Amino acid sequence: MVAADQVEQQILHGTQRGQKDYPFDDGHDPSRPAAFWFQESEEGQILFVVFYSQACRWSQCLGCNLPAKTSKKHVGFRSLMAQVDRVLGDPAVTQRAASLRKVIVSNNGSVLDQQTFSSTALIYLIARLNERFPRLGVVSLETRVEYVDDAELEFLARALAEADTPTQLELAIGFEAFDERIRNEVFLKGLKLEQFEDLCRRLAFYGFRLKCYFMQKPVPDMTDEGAVQDIHRAIDYLSERAQRHRLRINLHLNPTYVAYGTRLEAAFVQGRYWPPDLRDVARAALRAEGKSIRVFLGLSDEGLACAGGSFLRPGEAGLVARLEAFNRTQDFNLLREVAGA
Ligand code: SF4
Repeated sequence: MVAADQVEQQILHGTQRGQKDYPFDDGHDPSRPAAFWFQESEEGQILFVVFYSQACRWSQCLGCNLPAKTSKKHVGFRSLMAQVDRVLGDPAVTQRAASLRKVIVSNNGSVLDQQTFSSTALIYLIARLNERFPRLGVVSLETRVEYVDDAELEFLARALAEADTPTQLELAIGFEAFDERIRNEVFLKGLKLEQFEDLCRRLAFYGFRLKCYFMQKPVPDMTDEGAVQDIHRAIDYLSERAQRHRLRINLHLNPTYVAYGTRLEAAFVQGRYWPPDLRDVARAALRAEGKSIRVFLGLSDEGLACAGGSFLRPGEAGLVARLEAFNRTQDFNLLREVAGA
């Protein structure tokens, strides 16, 4: 284990390198999660939980202010366990306990980084999920690739298999942009294709699933058309990987919002950046029709956009409703309707 103050230094270094100027949420009650909400997908109802923990140790990515909802100080396992109890005891969750099919576990960073998310709390969470959600089919863990440890995955999968219904393990990783230069030199993601391909092989070996987060138009000076093309290339690539490894892959496509306190906000203020149009998001996702992957559209800015910086524009509720319906049905006609609207 790295000392807690060293972890804090890593967080501050990443924040500085990414030229971020948001404050951390150090005053948050550590017995409360950062947030949780529900989503509808073709697999059924999803509980998405963001635990309040120490921030992402990488913290550099250009348009990301997710660490602003976390702490730069260590949050111990007792607090994280109290957060688990609080979420699972919430009436909105208990009402849905019999029908929930999937839980996505996030800490706005990496839940497999034991420095920032305690292993004790993770094991406790799995035990409580097994106990409380009889129809749970998938548990998805958000993480950077470098924290994926085979022994830990095997252990977690074994624990999940003890639930009333077989529950699969999914890893959810941020890919953000397909273009290697944009991803690593501009966005500062720090993810090489070889690392990703190695992860695909390992997940396929264990029969686990993979979710990849992409952002449409993640950096300034990218054209709307260039952003659509980047997602098309990502879909083609992931579909080929899914076939090659017989791996179940879900591409989670987030239209980029202008996250406050980031270089994207500075570009937005200078008129060098504007968020993508939902019609272009539909056009990008249409590429997945007939391919070997699933697509889910992230349609929330999680309250992290700066003023005027959301992709959700007034008068577009109808488009959002159709895209949400696509998430529930994977009916590509809905995307065609939005793309042509
Ligand atoms: S995108 Fe993920 S890895 Fe990058 S800084 Fe944000 S939370 Fe960390």
